[in-house]
Amino acid sequence: MSDELTQLRSILAEARDLQAAFAVLDWDEQTYMPPRGGEARGDQKATLSRIAHQRFTSPRVGELLSLLESRDDLGELDRALVAVTRRDWDREVKVPDALVEAMARQASRSYRAWIQARDANDYRIFEPEFAATLALEREWTQAVGYAEHPYDAFLAGAEPGMSTRRLTELFGQLRRGLVPMVHAIAERQDRVDTAFLKGQFDLGRQWELCMQVARVVGFDFDRGRQDRSVHPFTTSFSRDDVRITTRLDPEDVTAGLFASIHEAGHGLYEQGIPAELGRSPLGEGASGGMHESQSRLWENLVGRSRPFWTFFLPRLQALFPQFQGTGVEAMYRAVNRSVPSFVRMHADEVTYNLHIMLRVDLELRLITGKLATADLRDAWNERFAADFGITPPDDLHGVLQDIHWTSGLGVFPSYTLGNVIAAQLMAAARREIPDLDRHIERGELGSLLHWLRAHVHRFGRSRTPSEILVAATGRDLDAEPYLAYIAAKFGEIYGLG
Ligand code: ZN
Repeated sequence: MSDELTQLRSILAEARDLQAAFAVLDWDEQTYMPPRGGEARGDQKATLSRIAHQRFTSPRVGELLSLLESRDDLGELDRALVAVTRRDWDREVKVPDALVEAMARQASRSYRAWIQARDANDYRIFEPEFAATLALEREWTQAVGYAEHPYDAFLAGAEPGMSTRRLTELFGQLRRGLVPMVHAIAERQDRVDTAFLKGQFDLGRQWELCMQVARVVGFDFDRGRQDRSVHPFTTSFSRDDVRITTRLDPEDVTAGLFASIHEAGHGLYEQGIPAELGRSPLGEGASGGMHESQSRLWENLVGRSRPFWTFFLPRLQALFPQFQGTGVEAMYRAVNRSVPSFVRMHADEVTYNLHIMLRVDLELRLITGKLATADLRDAWNERFAADFGITPPDDLHGVLQDIHWTSGLGVFPSYTLGNVIAAQLMAAARREIPDLDRHIERGELGSLLHWLRAHVHRFGRSRTPSEILVAATGRDLDAEPYLAYIAAKFGEIYGLG
């Protein structure tokens, strides 16, 4: 390894360690920190993120990148390291340290206000802090710059290769495919019975179920843990210490279960990134959308499939005997019930993307100043009524439901991209593992995990989402497999044409 590479790697490793320390503080804040600890935690996170930013954007990194870019003797991985670091460095160097620090401190403040606002079920408590967050986000988009739309600044970071224009086109294509299905299904609501899912479910047993399902999909508890939080999430301090969380609902046993499969899907990606990519900008997922493809693939394409319930129903019945009279088919249909509902996280696969489009459209108006935070609740409810035909009864079921706006904008597109990518990857995996459903029925999920490791996880961020998709599926991002999957699955469940 050349001297310049050694120097670059050592600076990047330090910056990475600081980011990981930040992540530990953040994980603790959302899981075990006592309620009054928030203000000091905000200071600590602000300090750490400023120092990490200073370390990463030091002029020496720029010099080393220039020196390394002029060389032609670098291996593939080192070239990727230089290219990815260059992309990040060029963006981050434009952001003043003080802004980075202010954003981290504000995120903690907004998080505390969001928790209080949720307790009071009142958006107005969160609104002033969200306004402060939004002002900093605007400053940030101006600092880093963008091609066409301020929103491009977010996408450039989270979704390499994606633009607001391309995203809007994709949303249009999905809407044209999904909205007629939503309407057709609305007329056939009697086809799916979910009444038997209602009840009271012991939280201790629910926890056991959530631990079981994470183990079943292959989450390695020697290199990770699961805990509870207000909003389920995954974070990683290294590939050998990956944290997932879930949220249990005493009246809905499927909520925690699917949150656990979802987060375990993220966790598997993190645990599958090779050690050699660790402590560098390559040691994470290729994009937000690619990360979300892993969680949504396990949650929906596996967790909401017939073969999975053939295998998993006896396990559910062992913990909750009230399901002993329930058959696989009834369970499969119930967990796939499609109906307009208020909460994104529990939305079915047909309506889910409409929740995302609503948020992204509001974000586009917020970042350009066309919508003020003071008018956000009304704008949300109005748009929700237009898209879903129902009006949220309160803020918890509306504008306050997601944690994302406590730390800023630009995260939601990844969910829809994740749905699309997940279907694309699963279609390719099915071609290469012809008896995949038999494996899933037997609870042998290793063949699918192995395929994802080989085609997605092992590259970390050393390849772009587009490169990964083309190599794994033969095509760049493509909504067709997703729309075909939804049409086939829900067409059968609801007996559509
Ligand atoms: Zn997720």
